[in-house]
Amino acid sequence: MNILFLGPPGGGKGTQSKYLQRKYGMVQLSTGDMLRAAVESQSEVGLRAKEAMESGSLVSDDIVIAIIDERLDQPDTKQGVIFDGFPRTVGQAQALDGILLKKGLRLDHAIEIRVDDDLLVARVAGRFSCATCGASYHDTFTRPKVEGVCDNCGGTKFTRRADDTAEMVRKRLNYFHELTKPLLPYYQEKGVYSLLNGMADIAVVSQELENILAGKRS
Ligand code: AMP
Repeated sequence: MNILFLGPPGGGKGTQSKYLQRKYGMVQLSTGDMLRAAVESQSEVGLRAKEAMESGSLVSDDIVIAIIDERLDQPDTKQGVIFDGFPRTVGQAQALDGILLKKGLRLDHAIEIRVDDDLLVARVAGRFSCATCGASYHDTFTRPKVEGVCDNCGGTKFTRRADDTAEMVRKRLNYFHELTKPLLPYYQEKGVYSLLNGMADIAVVSQELENILAGKRS
């Protein structure tokens, strides 16, 4: 099964992707993670993407489309993929259609995770993750059970994203409203769209997600 999440920064796309990855062995394809790795390694893609990422803008369509096209050729994607943070523009969605067709794949679900803007700023501005396993935490909502120790892997190093400030989140949200929201009708028309209430507790959202994937809700 191949699915994609549509939602604002801090909406829970990454958290729910990791849930599906753990539970079903599906592969999370986060363009944000891939681009951050490219910037870190100072690859050509990284050098091209850096400025847009640091300013909270979108990286150009051709870069992210090429990354996804290439990544889908790796054998682990046969287990099913979760597109997390891609597509973000109508151009990317159209390109994804072409890529899937070319590779004989299909998209089973496009799931919107909906969260009010005000909550998002609070969520994103306080989040951090384990530097070892990537588990997500939040200053107010989800602290590790033992201070300074990752619940998942016992790691003691944590990282915060440079673009997770209140000002940058507002900017990223503007891009979401302007460029990504038009994808909702795009996928509604294809008959693969479902809506998740992303303001519920994480476990409740995961359960609703399972219902959607099991075809119990459309
Ligand atoms: P994310 O981790 O999904 O919040 O992405 C972090 C940043 O990476 C975004 O603010 C963009 O600069 C860039 N980025 C990630 N995915 C895309 C995409 N599909 N299209 C354009 N830029 C992207």
